[in-house]
Amino acid sequence: MKDKIKYQREYSKRLRLRAMMEINPFLTCECCGLDFYHAVLHIDHVEPLKQKNRQPNSIYLSILRNGRNGFQLLCANCNLSKRHGSQCQLIH
Ligand SMILES: [Zn+2]
Ligand SMILES: [Zn+2]
Repeated sequence: MKDKIKYQREYSKRLRLRAMMEINPFLTCECCGLDFYHAVLHIDHVEPLKQKNRQPNSIYLSILRNGRNGFQLLCANCNLSKRHGSQCQLIH
């Protein structure tokens, strides 16, 4: 049982990385340019998704299947700041 959870977590992690590389092979925040090694990057939809509670894996798979399609990579700070409006409120 434990192994299954571990496997699923690994699978999900790998899918996420592949989806991120599909969006931006350089793995940098599209707003401030911080890279993978200096920031926690999130997959963000440019237009907030209407459907809530979507399985993360289904988002990754749709990116791998259909391309970036409105998704972008944002670091945690930019992503958080975007929550208060449609644009990042930080000054870079
Ligand atoms: Zn950023
Ligand atoms: Zn920003």
